[in-house]
Formats: sequence, structure tokens, C-alpha cells
Amino acid sequence: PDTVCTVLKEGNLMKQTNSFQRWKRRYFKLRGRTLYYAQTSKSIIFDEVDLTDASVAESSTKNINNSFTVITPCRRLILCADNRKEMEEWMAALRSVQNRQNYESTQYSMDHFSGMHNWYACSHARPTYCNVCKEALSGVTSHGLSCEVCKFKAHKRCAVRATNNCKWTTLASIGKDIIEDEDGVSMPHQWLEGNLPVSAKCNVCDKTCGSVLRLQDWRCLWCKAMVHSGCKEQLSPKCPLGQCKVSVIPPTALNSIDSDGFWKASCPPSCTSPLLVFVNSKSGDNQGVKFLRRFKQLLNPAQVFDLMNGGPHLGLRLFQKFDTFRILVCGGDGSVGWVLSEIDTLTLHKQCQLGVLPLGTGNDLARVLGWGSACDDDTQLPQILEKLERASTKMLDSTQVQTLIWFWTVLMCLFCLIQVQQILTYEDSVAAHLSKILTSDQHSVVISSAKVLCETVKDFVARVGKAYEKNTESSEESETMAKKCGVLKEKLDSLLKTLNEESQASTILPPAPPPTIPREQLMLRANSLKKAIRQIIEHTEKAVDEQNAQTQQQQVFSLGRAEEDGGLVEEDEEDEVEEDKMSLQSSYSTKHRSIRRGQDCYTEKCVMNNYFGIGLDAKISLDFNNKRDEHPEKCRSRTKNMMWYGVLGTKELLHRTYKNLEQRVLLECDGRPIPLPSLQGIAVLNIPSYAGGTNFWGGTKEDDTFTAPSFDDKILEVVAVFGSMQMAVSRVINLQHHRIAQCRMVKITILGDEGVPVQVDGEAWIQPPGYIKIIHKNRTQTLTRDRAFENTLKSWEDKQKCEFPRTASAQTPLSSQPEIVSEEEASLISDFGQAAGALIHRYQRS
Ligand SMILES: [Zn+2]
Ligand SMILES: [Zn+2]
Ligand SMILES: [Zn+2]
Ligand SMILES: [Zn+2]
Repeated sequence: PDTVCTVLKEGNLMKQTNSFQRWKRRYFKLRGRTLYYAQTSKSIIFDEVDLTDASVAESSTKNINNSFTVITPCRRLILCADNRKEMEEWMAALRSVQNRQNYESTQYSMDHFSGMHNWYACSHARPTYCNVCKEALSGVTSHGLSCEVCKFKAHKRCAVRATNNCKWTTLASIGKDIIEDEDGVSMPHQWLEGNLPVSAKCNVCDKTCGSVLRLQDWRCLWCKAMVHSGCKEQLSPKCPLGQCKVSVIPPTALNSIDSDGFWKASCPPSCTSPLLVFVNSKSGDNQGVKFLRRFKQLLNPAQVFDLMNGGPHLGLRLFQKFDTFRILVCGGDGSVGWVLSEIDTLTLHKQCQLGVLPLGTGNDLARVLGWGSACDDDTQLPQILEKLERASTKMLDSTQVQTLIWFWTVLMCLFCLIQVQQILTYEDSVAAHLSKILTSDQHSVVISSAKVLCETVKDFVARVGKAYEKNTESSEESETMAKKCGVLKEKLDSLLKTLNEESQASTILPPAPPPTIPREQLMLRANSLKKAIRQIIEHTEKAVDEQNAQTQQQQVFSLGRAEEDGGLVEEDEEDEVEEDKMSLQSSYSTKHRSIRRGQDCYTEKCVMNNYFGIGLDAKISLDFNNKRDEHPEKCRSRTKNMMWYGVLGTKELLHRTYKNLEQRVLLECDGRPIPLPSLQGIAVLNIPSYAGGTNFWGGTKEDDTFTAPSFDDKILEVVAVFGSMQMAVSRVINLQHHRIAQCRMVKITILGDEGVPVQVDGEAWIQPPGYIKIIHKNRTQTLTRDRAFENTLKSWEDKQKCEFPRTASAQTPLSSQPEIVSEEEASLISDFGQAAGALIHRYQRS
């Protein structure tokens, strides 16, 4: 497994010791975000340095001995390479660690292919033994380290000596133990020694096995079989993979990643329906972490992904070559929406079926698919996986929300952007003063220039900080910004203080004495200042670029709109605004032209799986938007959305009620204008569950006017919202009279010059005046819980039990093995289940 894990660079370097600055030769390995070193490559214990937030620097400008320094928040390593080339290679490799993308892919290989254990410290209720030294863990509570995936135990001191033999993931990780016979390649049991549960029984002789006195007997990590050391040889060497075998992708099926970045999938017949699991580790107050751990224990760790660690892209890409697979998303509706959108991007609709395990609250999608509103018991996972195997398939409509913003709004936004651009001119001012500092021989000029510089930069920092406060909510981005500003401000203050002392000193003693601060040092400080300001400018630029990209799009569409309206604005004037002032990218003109050819002028704002709301309920979502942690992608888009506050200057907008919304919006269903009653909001429903379980439509059956609501009929339900009081009690009262229409396409026009709150699946923003169009996008196969089928299967199982009573052990005491009988039963049941599932599926389709 060691060869599979990416070692970015390894080799000998000289390391300066802390004492007396002597040099010692050490062997270094750079892997993931960690630098390991030891006396030789053969050493067992490697010291390690975490390179998160590390910086790398050459030791001096002359640098005759090719030395460089690695500085982390906790450590400083001075290293020395044999030659310059070698030094440059090391520095490049160390710097690449900071590159995020690189980090993610190596992180993935670290997690999945290194075979390294995933330690956490814990106590044990029973005597527990170290799998490395075989001694008991310390204390009455048996305190030590336990691997969260394979339950390998170790003393803290022994952990470094543990072999990297965690639960297998790929064919390569099994190594030489692979069984190859006429049936092809199959997997042996993966044995872990000792620490068996209390009532453990040997699968071969059916006698008690394991011991509380020492590390004794064995347990398979996959099929959970337990055996005496003496009986181990008698057990069939092939691992049957156990209870969840339909869902488990055996490591033998994962045979290295090909150059495209996909698994070369060659699933054996036993794995009829591989399961890809996405867990949002932050869902349900971080309950997701427990589920993540449990899934890795039950399945192949390589089929389990944390959405908070890289999103759904990597997992879906890896499984792209499987003919069919199931996906289980553990999290809230936000997580499901995230996975659905990635399925859409990779066009995997035909290959996969998606099930939901709801964590946290407000899971409308899980509810309508029959998986309940929340699951908090991770011990139920085997049963849940079983239910998922028996689920039936239903199509889920996805709807897209398109928007078009009116021209004047875009113009306002442009002006706002120009303001943001203005701060970039600070850099010029900074440069001018810097060059003065660097070139002038006059001490007083240097000092006064430096002072101006400091003030300018401080002003800049304050303005940037304020702009960010105004335009972003407490997102990750504005936090980094605040941090950067804080650091810079600190540097500035200290420099200003010194400069003030300096200038005072020089005024007291008129014939300027030799500067108390050497100029070199002052320059050094100025340079570090320059670097810090660059960082802030880069950060701002990135935000502006993002905005530009967004505005550009909207602009293009609004231009189309303007032309429709008879060309409100002269073309030249616009070009000036965009190209000169905004220096927009050249792609603009291409887009501009394509609009001329009369393409659709709307832009897809987002995809809606559950529901859309405008007016009162969206305002409520905006106020109580707490899905932040659920969905980092959405957070980013929210930051962008929040920019509109700044543009429209309308935070007070939120304090408004939406009485008489009908005077500010127009509604069209399938092209038909709908006269609106006096209302405070409109909701458009794709699924019959709204904001945590309310059936807003108020019924599940068809009647004289409307058909039964469904999430696979490409039809949307449109409902009027009358007031917050009514919203609160709507669970109880009959909403019949709130229904507006059922249709395939909804168009809403926002009139006037003020935006209106809008929300999609709980994600809210202020939509500027213009049009909103809601139309069908595509469909995804989902796994819905099928209770009728579960019951049929249950009664069939019960009947089987009555017909074949468990007399087996009494009849054949020597190799009785009731487990094998039940294993056969299980496989029979699962075969039957699959056949019946396919039948139901076909029936539903026809
Ligand atoms: Zn030990
Ligand atoms: Zn492990
Ligand atoms: Zn096994
Ligand atoms: Zn035995």
C-alpha cells in the first residue's frame, strides 16, 4: 500500500539541529500535507511536521550551501540540499502542498489508499489489548488509540509502529493474499487479532472464542466471522463479505484509477448494486461524523465520501464507469440538492438511483421519498442499508429557476463595481511612496513618505473592511479578509509607531544624525508591507472578478432585453461602460454577438428540487437562513447574492411586510396571466412537502379542478400565501382555497424598482426587478421506501422460518453452522428481493 500513496518527494537533506546549529543528515519524505524525517529511509519512527500554513524560504540571498527554511506556525526547520537543483525541487514540492487542489487529491489518496489507520483516542469498557505490542492498554479504562475504521487498537507509544494494514480498499491494498482460482480473483478474509466481543462464538467449532486476558483469536473486518487461531485454517478462505454484501464493493473490484480518473470498474456478480455513500459530516449537529465512521466499518471505505471534504464530484467521477450504481446521501435537503446538481453536471441520470438518509431537520425530500424526517441512530445502519436494497425506484423532477434582470439594475450594479475597482488605485499610491522610500537619500523624506504610506494603507484597509462588511455576511471569505486586514493593521501600527519615534528624534536634533533604524531594515519592512497589501488586493480582485462574471452574464441578458424593448441605450455607450471602465473580459463580445442571433435571454439561476417562494416566506427564510453549514457551495452563492444588498441598498427591505405583493408582481402559468388576490407571497411546489413537512397544497388526492400532486409528473403546484399567522397554522387548516394553479411553466414578473425576497429550497436572496421563469429541467431516479414490499418480504421470511425450523444444529453437531444456512437464506431473500424489485420497477415504468 505504501507504493500507492503519493510520496511527492523523498531523499536526504542536512538538517540543522537546535543545539549549536550543527548539521545532521536525515532522510525526508513529503506525503500529503506532512513532512516526515528520520535517520535513514529504513527507520521505523519518523518525526513529522504538519505543513498546513507553512511557508518555505531560501535561507539568504547568497545561499552558498543551498539551504532553505520551512516555517510552520509551531516549528522552524533549517534544511540544506546537496546542490541547488535538489534544493529547488524540494522547495517546489513543499510549496505545492499549499496548492489546494493538489492537497485535495493527495488527501483523497491518503485517506483511501495509504492503509494508514484513522486514530482516535478513547477508553474501553473491557480489558483491551494493543495490536502492536500485545500488552494491555493502560489503566482500568484501557485508554489508548483505536482506529475508527477497523478498530485496530494501540498504545499511543505503539501507534507509530503499527503497520499500515487498515481495512482494504483496492485490489492493490490486499497484496499477496488475493485468492486466484478457476472462478477468478476473490477476496480472502481480512483478520484482525483479538479484542472480540463478550459472547463471541467460533464460526468453525461454535465454541466461545476470544479472551479478556490476552490478545487472542480472530475476527474478519468484512464478514465479521470470528474464529479460534486453531480453527482458522478450517474456514473457507474466501470472504463472503457478510450482511451488506449487495452494497459492498469488494476491494477486488477496485483496480487502480485509470488515467481519466475513474475506477476501472469490474464488479463481481455478488456486487449487483454498488452503493456510493455521501455523508455530510456537519449535518445534524455533526452527527454525520458518526455515520461516516459506521459506513466505513460496514462497507469498503473507498465507497464512502464526506461531502464536507471535497464535495460530491470526486465520488461520482470515480464511479462513472459503473453501469449502474446506487447513491445514498446522508444529510439534509441541501446535501441532496448538491449531489443532484453534480449528477446533472456529469449526466449520470441514467446510471444511478439516489436514496436519502435524512440527518438534521427540515428534510422535505427525504420525507416524500418515504425515509422519514430524521435519523439519528447510527446503530440502525445495517437495517437501513437493507431497506435501501429493497426500495423501489421513482422519478424525481428537477426544475430550473431562470432569471432575467432589468437593465437599469445592472447599470447600478456596474457603478457599484466601479467603486470597488477604485480601491485598486491604492496600489499605485503605495508603489509611488515605496519608490520614494527606496530611492531618497534624505532621511526626512523617507520617514514622511513612509508615514503617508502607512496612513494610506490604513485607510485602504478600513475601506476594504467596511465594503466587505456591507456586502457579505459572516462567510468564510469575509473572515479571511478580516483576518488579513487585522494582520496588516498590526504591522502598520507597529511601523507607524517606530516612524513617529524616528521623526520626533530627527526634529529634536536638527542636523539629522545617522538614522537609528538602518535603511536596509526600513526597506525590509516596507517590502513586507507591500506583500501584505498585494494579498488584500488579490483577494478583492478575486471577489470583483466573480462579480464581473456574474454581472456580465446578467448584463448580456439585460442587453437582449433592452433590444427587445427597442434599444433603450445606445450600443456605443454601453461598450464604453463595459470595456473601458470595467475592463471586462473579451468573452463579452462573443456573448454579445450570440445574443444578437436571438438566443434565449434568461440565465439559469439555480435548480429547484423542492419548492420556490417569493414574498413573505422567502423573507422568513432570509431572516432565518440557517442552512449555512449544510452546503458550502450555496454559501458562496449566498455571498454573491448578498452583494445585491449593497447594490440596492436595501437591508431595510427586509423589515417590510409583503402585504399587497400582488401589486408588485405579475404571475403567468403556462403563458396564461393569473389575476392575483390580495396576498403576501406565492409558493411553487415540486414536492408535496414544504419547509419541513407542511403539505402546502393541502391534499394528496385529485379533485374536480386539480390532479393529485406528485414529484414525477413535470407539473408544478402554485399556491398563494396570505400571512404569517396563516403560515404558522397551515398544518391544521384546509388550504384548498389557497391553491392557484397546476402548470408546467411559471413566470413571475417583479415590477417597480425594488427587489423582492425569493427562495429556492430554503436558500433565499433578494431578486432585483425583472423576470423569473420556473420550468422543468430533467429527472433523476430516486429510491423510495416501499413498505408494502417490505411487509410482503417479511411475511415470506417468517413463512420460511416456519417451514424450515432451525433443527440443523441438533442434527449435525459437528459442522452445524447455522450461520451458513442463514447466509444461504439471506442470499435467497436478496435474490428474490432483487427480482421483485426489478419487477416492480418495470411495472411502474410501463
Ligand atoms: Zn502497545
Ligand atoms: Zn484501521
Ligand atoms: Zn470475512
Ligand atoms: Zn473454533
